Amino acid sequence: MLTTRPRGTNDILPGEVEKWQQLEEVLRKVAALYGYKEIRTPVFEHTELFQRGVGETTDIVEKEMYTFTDRGERSLTLRPEATASVVRAFVENKLFALPQPTKLYYIGPMFRYDRPQAGRYRQFHQFDVEVFGSNSPTVDAEVIAMAMDIYEWLGLKGLKVELNSVGCASCRPVHRQALQKHLEAKKDELCPTCQSRFERNPLRILDCKNPPCQELVKEAPTIDQHLCPECKESFEAVQEQLKALGVPFHLNPRLVRGLDYYVQTAFEIVAEGIGAQSSVGGGGRYDGLVEQIGGPALPAIGFALGMERILLAMEQQGLTIGKEASFDVYIAPLGESAQIPSAVLAQRLRKAGLAVERDYLKRSLKAQLKAADRFLVKYTVIMGEEELKNNQVVLRDMHDSSQLVLKLDEVEGYLKQELGKEDKGK
Ligand code: AMP
Repeated sequence: MLTTRPRGTNDILPGEVEKWQQLEEVLRKVAALYGYKEIRTPVFEHTELFQRGVGETTDIVEKEMYTFTDRGERSLTLRPEATASVVRAFVENKLFALPQPTKLYYIGPMFRYDRPQAGRYRQFHQFDVEVFGSNSPTVDAEVIAMAMDIYEWLGLKGLKVELNSVGCASCRPVHRQALQKHLEAKKDELCPTCQSRFERNPLRILDCKNPPCQELVKEAPTIDQHLCPECKESFEAVQEQLKALGVPFHLNPRLVRGLDYYVQTAFEIVAEGIGAQSSVGGGGRYDGLVEQIGGPALPAIGFALGMERILLAMEQQGLTIGKEASFDVYIAPLGESAQIPSAVLAQRLRKAGLAVERDYLKRSLKAQLKAADRFLVKYTVIMGEEELKNNQVVLRDMHDSSQLVLKLDEVEGYLKQELGKEDKGK
């Protein structure tokens, strides 16, 4: 136990972490291009926020939340997704009082007690964007286009946008009734959770992961047959704009998404070839949620990208981001009296903006040069006791093994100039 991480979690080790850093860099860059500002919310929230926000009858709330009671007897939950938290923060901090729309993005870990497999974890990371204050189909199309733009920045190919409208409070009851009528006769064949959903929220049955339930809903009536004129009009406008923006999409009338708050536009982005967990992102419009959580009636839309799955898809497609951080200089002190001068020089070079690694183990020169090679540095500063007596060091060019003697004071200027030249030449 002590040496095993909890099931469904990952250690992101050096070598791997650079990919994450670069992915985050791309995400932040694209977010800025589209005018989004970062928000950071707590990792846990009051359980009620997710029960009310995500929906009592969803898989997330019924089966997947990490809920605990703290020492003050409060029920808290590790966030299973970011939207409810961002909406809570938007309302609590009265961001609605600012000129709208508000565009926010978020990067961080989420927690779901899911069955772990490739691409599905209990702690995973999402990049999440939310736009508050506009119900214009232009925003829907722009949000979807932005998601696709991110994948393009990363070099990913062959991703598909699946698009649907899940209707609104006025057309959903009609669909709900049709669905109940269709499933009535076979109700007993549904899984126990879905049997209880039959009355409470039959739409959720469409999203059940149990194969028998999936089989039973195959022929069920779809929402597109029941959309009200307003939802239809908005759905058509979104499609028209996506076409204008050159974003291809497939209509999927069975797409409902696993969260209750969606109305009208719902979408998912699917990558082929990464296994069963092929959804690399998804989102939709949630016009009623801000009000439901205690804010004003403001429309909103958002999406979340699964970062582990993006990295998986990139690996599949042979795309590499992230290279191991390399150092500019290695410092090799030889002997006791070189220890302090080497520490001083390392600090001085780092302050001048150079990435410095050094020996801490008082190893032989041969072992230190081997280490320097491993770090792929261009230069090693060899600080031998004899040279130091004259305030000198030996600078070794690791590419051609040539060496030159420099005054200790000249090292910083020389390296800055040499490495600066190298940078420009790259
Ligand atoms: P959702 O919040 O369920 O709409 O999911 C949005 C995205 O998060 C999905 O498209 C996945 O890429 C990712 N995701 C959701 N659940 C998991 C999980 N358990 N493990 C890894 N990624 C996930």
